[in-house]
Amino acid sequence: MARIVMKFGGTSMAGTERIARAARIIKRQQEAGHEVAVVVSAMAGETDRLVNFCREASPLYDPAEYDVVVSSGEQVTSGLLALTLQSLGCKARSWLGWQLPFNTDHAHSKARIGQIETAALLESMAAGEIAVIPGFQGLSPQGRVATLGRGGSDTSAVAVAAAVKADRCDIYTDVDGVYTSDPRIVTRARKLDKVTYEEMLELASVGSKVLQTRSVSLAMKEGVRIQVLSSFVEDGAVPADDLPGTLIVSDEELEGSDMERQLITGIAADKNEAKVTLTRLADKPGAVALVFGPLADANINVDMIIQNVAKDKGETDVTFTVPQSDLARAMALLEERKDETGFYRMISDDHVAKISVVGVGMRSHAGIAATMFTALAERGINILAISTSEIKVSVLINADETELAVRLLHTAYGLDAQDEAA
Ligand code: ADP
Ligand code: ASP
Ligand code: MG
Repeated sequence: MARIVMKFGGTSMAGTERIARAARIIKRQQEAGHEVAVVVSAMAGETDRLVNFCREASPLYDPAEYDVVVSSGEQVTSGLLALTLQSLGCKARSWLGWQLPFNTDHAHSKARIGQIETAALLESMAAGEIAVIPGFQGLSPQGRVATLGRGGSDTSAVAVAAAVKADRCDIYTDVDGVYTSDPRIVTRARKLDKVTYEEMLELASVGSKVLQTRSVSLAMKEGVRIQVLSSFVEDGAVPADDLPGTLIVSDEELEGSDMERQLITGIAADKNEAKVTLTRLADKPGAVALVFGPLADANINVDMIIQNVAKDKGETDVTFTVPQSDLARAMALLEERKDETGFYRMISDDHVAKISVVGVGMRSHAGIAATMFTALAERGINILAISTSEIKVSVLINADETELAVRLLHTAYGLDAQDEAA
């Protein structure tokens, strides 16, 4: 017998028929003798709909009230899934964030998880009751509902898995695993049997939204074994225990099983960033601290940063990217501090995309970035910004060229499915 946390994403919860399919998968896991907790997302599209209501109501919305609105989607699906499981003859109940409780900090709309109370949950699971937990939501220290950031149900699932010391956390979605690139963009993407935490972390952070980034870092820290697999399967499909999906594993585990590792693990695109340029900042110590300090205080993550070569007059231009959802707030904050910061103009562009190639092979091989720049240049794709880490190279380009760039890089690095067979 094992203890399994199963998470079902938005497409797997989109409507009562799909909820019924998920319920049958869950029932099968329980019948295999496991103790089961389930974490669910809102129905696909529902959170977007709720976010739009908030934006319409107030463009610079209060994050605490935003959380009240957007957390409601998961409340609906958790109740519906518990009802469906009951109708299949299973014992099941929902546990809302405040009922466990699932404690978080007070950073509304991107709250971090604190401690999860598990005593009552474990007791109920041990008694054969399936626990259905709405993902994405927790309880702030002020006793208010707090959400974990978009895609946060993955992180809820991993956090529950760590808290109940689960043997595995199965993330059910609409693809049957993690691919070398988004299979909806690259038809010749290949499914990976195993990916390391480190590579998955980079892939997720640069746009492979199959897993939320924070879920991967939490899994890595807590040693949670994650499997990504499809919920769109027939009733007689290979059981989850036989690991039909992609396993996220430690570097040692992968080294032992895959001698022929590819140099590049995957390619990802992210259209959710926006570019901001501040012109003619003073070229002196402390100038950029005045820009980024207030953004950090407002919990706005800055990603790529370029500071151009100072001009003759001791001035410099700074370009950086922020999540599109934070662009209005970031600009308002900087505008407020215009006198203090001393920039001349602020220019924004939200029609950009970040394309990244990821692979631990980069540590030991030169020329990865050069291949990327050459391949993009050959197709006339202009690079607006570049950033790198030890195992990743990212470029910012015009959003219209996203799909083209991802496909041509997938080919340039020899990742296309047919290349492997050749
Ligand atoms: P869920 O609603 O189940 O959480 P998501 O939409 O968040 O599902 O994530 C699944 C989607 O992630 C897939 O439909 C796929 O288009 C996308 N995706 C992006 N990159 C990858 C990748 N490298 N491998 C698999 N899927 C990917
Ligand atoms: N429903 C939330 C979202 O769409 C959380 C999730 O699905 O993981 O972002
Ligand atoms: Mg998701």
